[in-house]
Amino acid sequence: MSENRCESYKHLGEECGVFGMYDFDGGNVAESIYYGLVSLQHRGQESCGIAVSDTAGPKGKVISYKDMGLVNEAFTPEHLDNLVGDIGVGHVRYSTAGSSTRENAQPLVLNYVKGTLGLAHNGNLVNAPELRNELAYTGAIFQTTIDSEVIAYLIARERLVTNSVEEAVGKAMQKIRGAYSLVIMSPRKLIGARDPYGFKPLVIGRRENCYILASETCALDTIGATFIRDVEPGEIVTISPEYGIRSDKSMCLPKEQHARCIFEYIYFSRPDSMIDGISVYDARIAAGRFLAKDSPVDADMVVGVPESGNVAALGYALESGIPYGQAFVKNSYIGRTFIKPRQKNRESSVQVKLNALKSAVAGKRIIMIDDSIVRGTTSDRIVRMLRDAGAKEVHMRVSSPPFLWPCYFGTDVPAKDQLIAYNRNVDDICKIIGADSLAYLGIERLEEMVGGNLGICKGCFTGKYPVDPPTGDIRGEFER
Ligand code: SF4
Repeated sequence: MSENRCESYKHLGEECGVFGMYDFDGGNVAESIYYGLVSLQHRGQESCGIAVSDTAGPKGKVISYKDMGLVNEAFTPEHLDNLVGDIGVGHVRYSTAGSSTRENAQPLVLNYVKGTLGLAHNGNLVNAPELRNELAYTGAIFQTTIDSEVIAYLIARERLVTNSVEEAVGKAMQKIRGAYSLVIMSPRKLIGARDPYGFKPLVIGRRENCYILASETCALDTIGATFIRDVEPGEIVTISPEYGIRSDKSMCLPKEQHARCIFEYIYFSRPDSMIDGISVYDARIAAGRFLAKDSPVDADMVVGVPESGNVAALGYALESGIPYGQAFVKNSYIGRTFIKPRQKNRESSVQVKLNALKSAVAGKRIIMIDDSIVRGTTSDRIVRMLRDAGAKEVHMRVSSPPFLWPCYFGTDVPAKDQLIAYNRNVDDICKIIGADSLAYLGIERLEEMVGGNLGICKGCFTGKYPVDPPTGDIRGEFER
């Protein structure tokens, strides 16, 4: 795994955000893609990029720009002025597989005999190493260490023996296993595809005669587009002026096999997004309410660890009748230059990014809600911060069950022995983090939290994964 990891005071990283747009009237899409990526920035802060093409111009001419850093740092007005095209894809990245370098930034642009592909990918494949070896032994030369290039190669190869790029995407999907939401630009088509389990979200939107694919609905709102629908797990959508939106559902699985990453609702996605018909905000409120019902405690104030703990804290307050308050001030102006890669530095970044509000917490019994505990070092520091600010008691409630297993699908839940809950019970963990009490969301509450009707993945809590995990650790395989 990358040592250059973008480490915030929060605990988990999501792999990426994707965005694609096609203006059937021939207007320039680069600026809207830029704003779409800005609104997906929470999904990845290491690198970003945009690739565009002019569908009326020479077939296969793609202009792209990508760089390290935040979208608003990487792109200047001049960069955007150079990106002229009516079809395009964009990407923000957080690396869970493949190191944090400029070559690994996306979108990937691939030139091959049938033209050019631009590809943006969110997720992790479990069989990328095997596929990469297979491809390498038949002549492929890889420029990056990311799974996404494996997908791009497979599509390019399949395109040589299929009638259309969407058919090639379908054939590639039969070979890849794991989590992926893809946005692909061919010279004349915009294609979206979601893995058959639906690990990662992908939505379709429209603004006048422009069609949009995006990881989250908040990106549609940002650019003034209307939500049309979610891409279904296993579905391939092809967007073109000739046919509008065409759908191929031949890879779809029965609903019972769907396995959306529950952390999209708990933590990754923005609360103003909707995923598969469920509001992220409502799911977090529900989690807070369940915690209040299942693990009540007498206290003076409920607070959230910003940002994703805030909504669950409100849910707890609404259910319990205990006032909701703010205990922390977050410094939002810390850019990449401050990011510290190694564990020994992680704790200091907590303090720089968060400070306790002494006048709000002094003398009070506090219920503090956070979305998860991974290694425990962050929670320990935040509990101490509240005590130092004069809190009389600190009761921690966590809006997810304990992590006991790693994730192989694009979330950097680490190996078992790095997880605080591994081989420890709740009392042990409570002592380590120094709280007066600790309770997690019950695993049986997860389905209810998202309305009771959605197939979800719970692999990192149960060790039962919807897709067989790889035998070795696939993360960072090609860094070694
Ligand atoms: S194992 Fe956990 S983090 Fe990974 S996809 Fe499943 S629910 Fe999400």
